Amino acid sequence: MDGATLDALREALRGPVVGPRDPEYDETRAIYNAMIDRRPAAFARCLDAADVMRTVTFAREQDLELAVRGGGHSGPGLCLVDGALTLDLSLMRWVRVDPVTRTAQVGGGSLLGDLDHAGHGFGLATPAGIMSTTGAGGLTLGGGHGYLTRRYGLTADNLIGADVVLADGTFVTVSEDERPDLFWALRGGGGNFGVVTSFTYRLHPVDTVGVAVTVWPVASTREVLDWYRTFLPGAPRDVYGFFALLSVPPGPPFPEEIHGRKVCGVVWCRTGAPERLDELSSAVSEPAPPLFHFAAPMPYPALQAMFDGLIPAGLQWYWRGDFFDRIADGAIDVHLKYGENLPTPLSTMHLYPVDGAAHDVAPADTAWAYRDAVWSGVIAGIDPDPANAALIREWAVDYWNALHPFSMGGAYVNFVGADEGPDRVRATYRDHHDRLREIKRRYDPDNFLHANQNIPPAA
Ligand code: FAD
Repeated sequence: MDGATLDALREALRGPVVGPRDPEYDETRAIYNAMIDRRPAAFARCLDAADVMRTVTFAREQDLELAVRGGGHSGPGLCLVDGALTLDLSLMRWVRVDPVTRTAQVGGGSLLGDLDHAGHGFGLATPAGIMSTTGAGGLTLGGGHGYLTRRYGLTADNLIGADVVLADGTFVTVSEDERPDLFWALRGGGGNFGVVTSFTYRLHPVDTVGVAVTVWPVASTREVLDWYRTFLPGAPRDVYGFFALLSVPPGPPFPEEIHGRKVCGVVWCRTGAPERLDELSSAVSEPAPPLFHFAAPMPYPALQAMFDGLIPAGLQWYWRGDFFDRIADGAIDVHLKYGENLPTPLSTMHLYPVDGAAHDVAPADTAWAYRDAVWSGVIAGIDPDPANAALIREWAVDYWNALHPFSMGGAYVNFVGADEGPDRVRATYRDHHDRLREIKRRYDPDNFLHANQNIPPAA
């Protein structure tokens, strides 16, 4: 963009515009995954829906490619494109809770921590991801799962309305009654269908929750997974536990003698009465003696922020995912092999439960196409050192190749890498793909919004 175009954009917006010559350019283009090093033409840092409409219209008039940034947490860095204009929603962070209707309206650039904090003031929450620094935007539009999913469903299942700026720059409101086709597509279809300037969610009574972390030696992975694959799906919906392969973090609450040790583990959240954590604490000894088990009641936002310090922004990330309806014996062998060979201390694999209340919604009711999945898995190679980028990628790809035959064939769209190709996006949506393409044709026929896991418009 030349100086005159940048000036014209500055004139058009109330929010700041940051170009390559501005001192804050490098800080603005830094996103969560430091493996992504891209140089957009400029950032339109929108303050409200009017700024968003103007930015979309401006990009159209100037024939500029557009990318949209929410929380900047996408693994493949979908919010940044070299030479494109980034419509940056990260200054639109606000939450309004209505305790009477038990709903929250949330600005399109808000982080999960904003929503968790505001809701907690009223003892209310909605399901969302396990890190408070993730953007509500990208997470909700992809579906969104977390500690409350078995009890209250996906984040998208709790979306009741949205304000959207469409690809032609016009503003619409969307809900079950208004543009139901678009509302259907927003609940899982990613950032393909418009720029969401605010989300409205249903909230649930969630205050102090029971939290537990159990780790066993990685050599016990077989016994633990054999137990977990039956225990978790059979547990009441107020019990959530994601399985992980990891190295023990070097800090409290873990005792020093196990710091750095490769382990398998489960992070538990019990939303029922906190004292019922005791039942869980006795169950975890069934498969093998734990190396360490910690259990305590916690305010829900504290649980949501529990990993923020462990994996701060600025690390190298490479991830891949898949859905699973069972944990096959063959898959357990793969987990053991790659868990024993975690390439770096932060590299990990998680199996997030997506059963319980997430199964109450009929497959045809939202764009999320895997209501029959029990786990959403992600393999994440993570390290602070860019010199290890190839190492973590290779481990994640090899692990994924070995595990994929035991999967359902597709992955949660937010765990699909940038380099996996259109077939993987199709596999995410199964027989919803054609319907999504048709809705894309209706709302964005020339695929203006394509910096996402792209669903091309139907011909
Ligand atoms: P961005 O990179 O800003 O955006 C991602 C995509 O969404 C882009 O295509 C962007 O254009 C689009 N987008 C974002 N906001 C909007 C908007 N308002 N309107 C239109 N399009 C928009 N996911 C889970 O479900 N559960 C988890 O527990 C979980 N844990 C995670 C933990 C970590 C450490 C990380 C890095 C990710 C995790 N995720 C989880 C995945 C997360 O849901 C995705 O990375 C998601 O894309 C993040 O959204 P964002 O807005 O921060 O990202």
